[in-house]
Amino acid sequence: MEHFIYRDGILHAEDVSLVEIAAKVGTPFYVYSTATLQRHYQVFDEALSGMEHFICYAMKANSNMAVLRIMAEMGAGMDVVSGGEYARAIAAGVPGEHIVFSGVGKTREEMAAALRGGIRQFNIESEPEMHVLNEVALSLGTVAPITVRVNPDVDAKTHAKIATGKSENKFGIPIAKARAVYAEAANLKGLEVVGIDVHIGSQLTDLTPYENAFNKVAELTELLREDGHNIRRLDLGGGLGIPYERSNEAPPLPIEYGEVIRRTVGHLSCEIEIEPGRLIAGNAGLLVATVVYRKEGEGRDFLIVDAAMNDLIRPAMYDAHHDIVAVVEPEVGVEPVPYDIVGPVCETGDTFAKERNIPPMEAGDLMAFRSAGAYGAVMASEYNSRPLIPEVLVKDDQFAVVRARPTYEEMINRDTIPYWMT
Ligand SMILES: *Cc1c(COP(=O)(O)O)cnc(C)c1O
Repeated sequence: MEHFIYRDGILHAEDVSLVEIAAKVGTPFYVYSTATLQRHYQVFDEALSGMEHFICYAMKANSNMAVLRIMAEMGAGMDVVSGGEYARAIAAGVPGEHIVFSGVGKTREEMAAALRGGIRQFNIESEPEMHVLNEVALSLGTVAPITVRVNPDVDAKTHAKIATGKSENKFGIPIAKARAVYAEAANLKGLEVVGIDVHIGSQLTDLTPYENAFNKVAELTELLREDGHNIRRLDLGGGLGIPYERSNEAPPLPIEYGEVIRRTVGHLSCEIEIEPGRLIAGNAGLLVATVVYRKEGEGRDFLIVDAAMNDLIRPAMYDAHHDIVAVVEPEVGVEPVPYDIVGPVCETGDTFAKERNIPPMEAGDLMAFRSAGAYGAVMASEYNSRPLIPEVLVKDDQFAVVRARPTYEEMINRDTIPYWMT
């Protein structure tokens, strides 16, 4: 069920017209659909049915508090990668025992905060980190539940910047070293081994790398059990890709991903944990912008829009494609024309699309960038002193601003002039 569709010639988010939101909050803005977020959680839940499982939403994809509340109300746990994300999960009402702490650089302070506030498990990424966590847990008189993130050395066949499961990546412990590391963990009184963790990358559009990685995890589970470790939980990470270019992409469905999990690790009677981010939030959000100018170039026209790379960095950073559609539906028979669609930031990288065929547009027209709900707002900055853009949540025929656009004054007043200059 698609929740961003044209009605009476206007693109809607659920039952709300994007023209109406634009008039109320101004462009550019992000808009998210509650029904889509909920459906994506349910799709994973159904894909893992029949196996004991727990879905931890990887909030780095979209950590707006309203989005987190929706996930928490569905019963999701959270995968967090910083003290700030841990604090957001708690503030969204997620119990500590539903929070998984991932990331290669957890500090003592972050570990202590999570041990005090409650934690489901730490996913350990290195031996030094393991020893530090042991010390922190002992100093607090507690025991930290852990998995070790193993690096299975598989090629995720995704963009180099988001592949994490090859031996040259900074993530996890080489799977060949895992037995030794688990033996060491078992000797540390501040740690309790609960399982194994793996996460091989993001925007995977092929199931084979998962199949290879999970087979290696299954083999390791049996070896570690022989060594006497109580492996009862397998955290299989996130990373399932979404169709960014709808006309020619059909990544595997969660149901097929669930089948791979069943086939590779389903027989081990472990609790299955997954950490999806992009698939939950990506296609649940749009970025809406206004054309500021149409500029005639040589051989092509430029559409200069009021959104820029600071609002949505994926095209500049990952050469990412976002489908771009007109908010006002073109009349039947109107032919699309190629445009370079660019933002106003003073960098050539501030280009959303080149020679993209979309309906003819003029200054003042609204366009929507699809699949912008994940790694959009969370990666935004105020480069060029462009205030962070608002985020809007829709539910049925209602909408609310869930992060307001700061005023110029608020933005400027975050800086302070040192006392010797006043
Ligand atoms: C980024 C990340 C995820 C989520 O990845 P998606 O591609 O958004 O599903 C899950 N787990 C870990 C450890 C991550 O770093």
